[in-house]
Amino acid sequence: MKILVLDGDGIGPEISSATVRAIEAANYRLNLGLEITHADSGLSSLEKNGVTLTDDVMAQAADADGVILGPTHSLIYPTPEEGGINLSPWFRKTFDLYANIRPARARPGIPAMAHDIDLVMVRENTEGFYADRAMFQGSGEFLATEDVALAIRKITRQACERITESACRLAMTRRRKLTIVHKRNVLKLSDGLFTDVAHETAAKYEGLEVEEVIVDAMAALLVRHPAAFDVVVTTNMFGDILSDLSAELSGGLGLGPSINAGADHAIAQAAHGSAPDIAGKNSANPTALMLSAGMLLSWLSDRNEREDLAEAAHRLSEAVDAQLSDVSGRTADLGGPLGTDAFGEAVAARVGS
Ligand code: NAD
Repeated sequence: MKILVLDGDGIGPEISSATVRAIEAANYRLNLGLEITHADSGLSSLEKNGVTLTDDVMAQAADADGVILGPTHSLIYPTPEEGGINLSPWFRKTFDLYANIRPARARPGIPAMAHDIDLVMVRENTEGFYADRAMFQGSGEFLATEDVALAIRKITRQACERITESACRLAMTRRRKLTIVHKRNVLKLSDGLFTDVAHETAAKYEGLEVEEVIVDAMAALLVRHPAAFDVVVTTNMFGDILSDLSAELSGGLGLGPSINAGADHAIAQAAHGSAPDIAGKNSANPTALMLSAGMLLSWLSDRNEREDLAEAAHRLSEAVDAQLSDVSGRTADLGGPLGTDAFGEAVAARVGS
């Protein structure tokens, strides 16, 4: 089974290296037969190859069973014509990775603002207010005059249906509660369609409790009563914002994992960005990418009916919990003394023991 690792930019190489160490430990311990390969991506690929993602790496990604993608410093990428292919949207569009699954759980011992948060944000990934995803050709964002900017938001029945299906299936394996988050009081047609389709889809799941919350209230309720939520389904941009809030409530952005999954491909990606402010300092917390890689192993386990991959994901999650349980085992963002490398080594040792 082939796993392709693309480091990305900023802290990407540091956290990817720690993540690979932990996955290799599981691979060895459980004899998983994972073949983990690396390829160049992002700014380093731009420098060497004139493009952030080469055709060859695109082909390797298509051929891999799963991809681990480090965060990218997409803010400073040149235009696509100048070689700046934004990796995340490229993968999401090319492989139709419609479901961005972002859990937020307070891990034992971590001084989280919300000590009882345990939810999963299920974010639609292929449309919404994302200029590159709204149109067949051209951008969903344009200037009508030099002082008037317009943006188009695309919402389709098919995308609402399949993202709600993913959320419902997940909720049925958890506490059987689904929260539909929208802004239909203002976006009456587009969020009206999303909310109606989400309700229609969820109604097919017997025993599932379904509620809806307006997005601004949701931001307040997440802070006030985080434990009230189990699985949350929402559109692209709301999910992007609320999942960072949830990750922060659960202890910090460095703890927020995510997977982008479609019917045939999945990509592990931390919810956070490339953190240029701490890049190269060996101080980033690799937990989010490690747990994202664990989610990828779980996805591969379901898809290939391989219990050993589920066991590897479980071992990884337990190892991270054990490592984070005492402040002496944490990285600087959580008040600990460990560098990224040492944290990776310690987690790998626990996974392999
Ligand atoms: P960011 O998430 O990179 O950083 C926000 C804050 O959180 C910073 O203070 C950073 O130091 C801290 N932080 C983030 N990850 C951390 C970790 N693992 N350990 C410790 N601290 C961590 O957001 P930003 O600074 O707004 O964005 C930087 C770049 O990342 C931009 O170019 C943005 O476009 C890009 N970005 C990429 C992705 C992605 O690749 N999936 C996601 C979000 C942002």
